[in-house]
Amino acid sequence: MSSTLPGIVFDLDQTLLDSSALAYLRDNRDWGALGRRLGEVVPFTPAAGGVAPESVPTALYDAGVPVGVLTRSPRWYAEQLIRRFGIRHTALITGSDRYLPKPEPDALVGIARLMGVEAREIVFVGDDAVDHEAASAVQAMAVGVNWAASPMPGWTRFWPDLAVADPDLLLDLGNNLAALGDLVLAGVRARWHWGTLLRPARDVFCCGRYFQTTDIERHRGHPLTALTLRAKNEQAAAEEVGRLMAHAAEAEHWRQNPPTMVVSIPPDPDAEWDRFAPVRPLVAQAFGAIDGAGMLTMNGGVANYKTMSHDARATANRGRFSASTQVSGRRVLVLDDVWTSGATSEACAQALRDAGASKVEVLALSLTQEPRAEFCPECQVYRLCHKTGRRGPFISCTDWRGCGYSRDL
Ligand SMILES: [Zn+2]
Repeated sequence: MSSTLPGIVFDLDQTLLDSSALAYLRDNRDWGALGRRLGEVVPFTPAAGGVAPESVPTALYDAGVPVGVLTRSPRWYAEQLIRRFGIRHTALITGSDRYLPKPEPDALVGIARLMGVEAREIVFVGDDAVDHEAASAVQAMAVGVNWAASPMPGWTRFWPDLAVADPDLLLDLGNNLAALGDLVLAGVRARWHWGTLLRPARDVFCCGRYFQTTDIERHRGHPLTALTLRAKNEQAAAEEVGRLMAHAAEAEHWRQNPPTMVVSIPPDPDAEWDRFAPVRPLVAQAFGAIDGAGMLTMNGGVANYKTMSHDARATANRGRFSASTQVSGRRVLVLDDVWTSGATSEACAQALRDAGASKVEVLALSLTQEPRAEFCPECQVYRLCHKTGRRGPFISCTDWRGCGYSRDL
């Protein structure tokens, strides 16, 4: 596919090069110390036989693909690193070039212009949710890289169109690498890799993304979002969900230690039907596991659950679920439909562990996505973004140095 790629843009820090040792100097704009310690920026170590991330732009450039490098770091810093590591490129935009910071898409539009391509035709490769959000704002394809192949809670609200943990995949981008749910609904066979299932938290896997109704552009015409909604009420749609989620059993992750029992989030005590009833047996069969119907029960409904914060949900969920002792010693997979804060599935997981389950994992149909960011109420110029600090996640103005607005989540 690389020869047909109209253009590709790379973030620099933590995408092409490992500059984690200097992150706090960049954040504090301590340019003097940053300049003296530039030698501490190192390449990522490729997996055995794989390509190194910083060699990917050059390989694509040599194959005739327009290549951009887009960074918030200063120009002198970017140019020195690009020279030292021999990164060939068509265009470079840095933090010295007076564009609005990501997730504002201005710099992406600017670099597309320099590369002579439409912004929406670009593939934007980055490690941070603000990279994915900027790409999404101009309808460009967002590729998220995570060379550590660890769960990515920081991406949860803005998951990329494609998540990769293997740099080799960047040389061979194709539709068969997308999220499982999108591939199954498009009739495309998955080429399995780390990013085929979304991984918002440890032991949590999602088949794709769910775009909210307020996210008009992305909500409309997204088959997995439509199926997620239909499956809440329609038997036939729930069966389709079961066939889709059964494909998760093909994932390499479960080759060694597959679940031995499949359960599902129980319905409210007053619900008319259990929407997982058609799903669970199909998934259990695909894994060669026991259908754990009735193993998990809800002790009572909670009023206004949907509007509660994560912490309020966690409190309301205490003691809300109970599990049969028949789960004891089993590796249990919990099926969920839309994973939002994770509070419900975590409460179920806790009940299963309390009943003696040896391992509990969650497989959800889709991962709720944040609509495009709202404007900062303080400056009304920049947008808000999600950050994670020492005390946990919070919301801040993207111009946090100038405007400084922030609030707790
Ligand atoms: Zn602001």
